[in-house]
Amino acid sequence: MNTKDIFVSVQEVARQREYCRLASELLSRRFDHTPKAYVHTYGCQGNVSDSERMKGMLHEMGFSFCEQPEQADLVLFNTCAVREHAEARVFGNVGALKPIKEAKNHNMIIVLCGCMMQQEHIAEKIRRSYSYVNLVFGTFAVHRFPELLYRHLRENKRIFDVKEEDGKIAEGFPVWRDRSFKAWLPIMYGCNNFCSYCIVPYVRGRERSRLPDQILAEAKELIANGAKEITLLGQNVNSYGKTPDCGLNFSGLIRQINALDGDFIIRFMTSHPKDCSVELLQTMASCEKVERHLHLPVQCGSDRVLREMNRGYTADDYLRLCKKAYELMPDLAITSDIIVGFPGETREDFDKTLDLVRRVRFSSLFTFIYSPRKGTRAAAMPDPIDAKVKGEWFRELCFVQEEIAAEHSKALVGKTFRALIESENDGVLTGRTSQNLCIGVPGDQSLVGTFAYVTVTNAGNWTLSGKLADE
Ligand code: SF4
Repeated sequence: MNTKDIFVSVQEVARQREYCRLASELLSRRFDHTPKAYVHTYGCQGNVSDSERMKGMLHEMGFSFCEQPEQADLVLFNTCAVREHAEARVFGNVGALKPIKEAKNHNMIIVLCGCMMQQEHIAEKIRRSYSYVNLVFGTFAVHRFPELLYRHLRENKRIFDVKEEDGKIAEGFPVWRDRSFKAWLPIMYGCNNFCSYCIVPYVRGRERSRLPDQILAEAKELIANGAKEITLLGQNVNSYGKTPDCGLNFSGLIRQINALDGDFIIRFMTSHPKDCSVELLQTMASCEKVERHLHLPVQCGSDRVLREMNRGYTADDYLRLCKKAYELMPDLAITSDIIVGFPGETREDFDKTLDLVRRVRFSSLFTFIYSPRKGTRAAAMPDPIDAKVKGEWFRELCFVQEEIAAEHSKALVGKTFRALIESENDGVLTGRTSQNLCIGVPGDQSLVGTFAYVTVTNAGNWTLSGKLADE
């Protein structure tokens, strides 16, 4: 892939921004007030970041934002395709818009986009059964949103743009962030790994990285605007910089961001164990702004299942990586994702997962029961295990992890941490420590968005509580 195929041209971005202007003219004729948009995001932080870019476009078209679909002139759902459950929720919520549109606002524009819409069978279902949806586009068309909305407004017809194409990177659009002190910063898009259960490579395209200069410029702007936490985003951040050849890898990028002036912290997600290098762990250990948290999805502890999943590492490889990480950063928290009940998984395989969980001693786990995704290799694999059995394994895994998490939490009582205070509710602040642990402390709203020192006084399984401490 050469650079021309990866990046949307400057001219095309300018053309789309001109569509923002044209759309705002049509919108001012259609509405006698400042139009309001309600944007709801399903799924991962990558989607949240895409929504922030689409909100930037909407803002440029003259929209303000509201909290309820009932108040909105435009409703946008940015959807997720990772699990069947998430898809069912989207259909339910789209269905709920129909009476709102009929009863309250006939002019309401309903927009569906994101990973789910990039799948042909879903877009077809919307076309056939949800006639009140006005605009549908997939992940590859995000940068064309202004043009698509303009066409809908001008031609007054339904617009679908879900064709499969090479995913591109579009620089130069405004970004609308709801919070200034925590920021998602995408560094790459797509994935080349084709894990056998995962739909992402099909709906988000091949791996492609943003250029370091663009990322650094955005990071500097975020810091200047008050960002205290920057989370670098990508499906597999560990392979940053390969396409196009950026002249530096993920560790190099972290070091450059770490060197920027300002009191801020760096997080990143998601790391693939197969590409997680010792260099990266050393970089984490040596960069003072990188937090002590590594999310490293293992998915399973059985080598046989890992092979079937096409993950590219063994349980031993993973354990070695964790051992090295703990050696370099004794205070590191490792978290992970685990899929229970992959097609053909046996009790013996599952026991290996439990064993791995006990050995790594994750600080927390995101556990999922396997959900088949149409079009993936795993969806065609025989799956003899009963759903009831999978449910039992799932509960067993949660129980084992809860015990480990409780032990971790208890060991923290009496310790003091620096935490970023994220919110306040009824006089209780919620902060997040370097290890990404949530802690509640009594305190004043004015501390939200700042760093504070907190001492743990009480430890539950999921959260810690404490008090503000002197520095
Ligand atoms: S690394 Fe695997 S699980 Fe992650 S996005 Fe790529 S294909 Fe999906």
